[in-house]
Amino acid sequence: MEVKKFDLKPYARVINASLLLIHVIYLAAFFYSGIRIMMILNIFSVTTYVLLFIAVEQEKSVLQLTVTYLEIVIHMSLATILLGWECCFQLFLISAILNMYCLKTRLRSLKALPVAVLLTMVYCLLKIVTFQHSPFYILPDSTKLLCGLVNTVFAFFLILGYSEYYFRVIQCHFDVLQKRADVDELSSIYNRHRLNEILEDWHEQAHDNYRNFSVAILDIDDFKKINDTYGHNCGDYVIKKISMILKERCSDDIIVGRWGGEEFLIIQKNINNFYKNCSVLKQLLLEIRSTEFIWEQKKFHVTVTIGAARYETEETLQNMLEKADQKLYNGKANGKNTVCY
Ligand code: GH3
Ligand code: MG
Ligand code: MG
Repeated sequence: MEVKKFDLKPYARVINASLLLIHVIYLAAFFYSGIRIMMILNIFSVTTYVLLFIAVEQEKSVLQLTVTYLEIVIHMSLATILLGWECCFQLFLISAILNMYCLKTRLRSLKALPVAVLLTMVYCLLKIVTFQHSPFYILPDSTKLLCGLVNTVFAFFLILGYSEYYFRVIQCHFDVLQKRADVDELSSIYNRHRLNEILEDWHEQAHDNYRNFSVAILDIDDFKKINDTYGHNCGDYVIKKISMILKERCSDDIIVGRWGGEEFLIIQKNINNFYKNCSVLKQLLLEIRSTEFIWEQKKFHVTVTIGAARYETEETLQNMLEKADQKLYNGKANGKNTVCY
């Protein structure tokens, strides 16, 4: 249930390498065509993207995204004015809007919408300027077509790259939230919220497909005494250790979680023989009983009581849980350290 931290570096690397590649191509093309202003600008751009690899490796995504954003806006606006609309440099401004939203995932305070609106205005302004004035450099039609096609392909590739990056960042946040919603922080096993979802799902399946399942409530015996004798931290340690023992028993058909306080829930799915399933619970009880707990050099043992119930046709979930709780109560009343079913 560990949430794997997603590595954004490969995406940042691909985006930076693509931008470096296109600027190397521009540099060679402008050098070949003798367009000096653009050549000088591209020397700066190539140097910038080479240096930005350091920021990528050091995971300085804010720096990378900000510098890239500024480079795209300056370079592409100037190139559009100097070489004309048909060369399609302005398309990169669209990728800059997505870049803004990637940056926003890192800088929450960033107002991406006003910047995106501003960028749209720059785009429209460039359209008006290039409509009213001829480009500074008049290129042959075939060069304009080639330049336009290359820019279109790269701009769309960059939009794809930023979309993927943005999606991964959002996915990462989603996974963390999902884990927080489903897993108990202290014991690292499912929490009551997730257990209820699983129970409802299984109750529905049992009802519709005649499949059976059982629930068992496991309660640590005299847990208050453990807290009182060794302290609350020791109580937490006992909860964690018992959770680990339960977790080892998990399989496709056995699900465990913390029901609350010092109580755990064990759901056994696809059961054929309830009594056979209860023998699994007995083994669990014996395993916990024989486990040695050590807290501040003091050794002690812990026992548990388990109450189990099987789903009966047409029974409600609430009823089933109440039956298990009643069995647990019986176990406690009859001297604890036992499985009742
Ligand atoms: P019984 O054998 O009848 O179950 O008795 P018990 O002492 O285990 O049960 P009781 O309900 O009297 O006490 C449970 C105690 O568990 C009370 C509460 O302070 C403690 N507790 C609940 N959650 C936690 C927790 O997360 N950490 C610790 N250390 N103690 C907890
Ligand atoms: Mg209890
Ligand atoms: Mg208890």
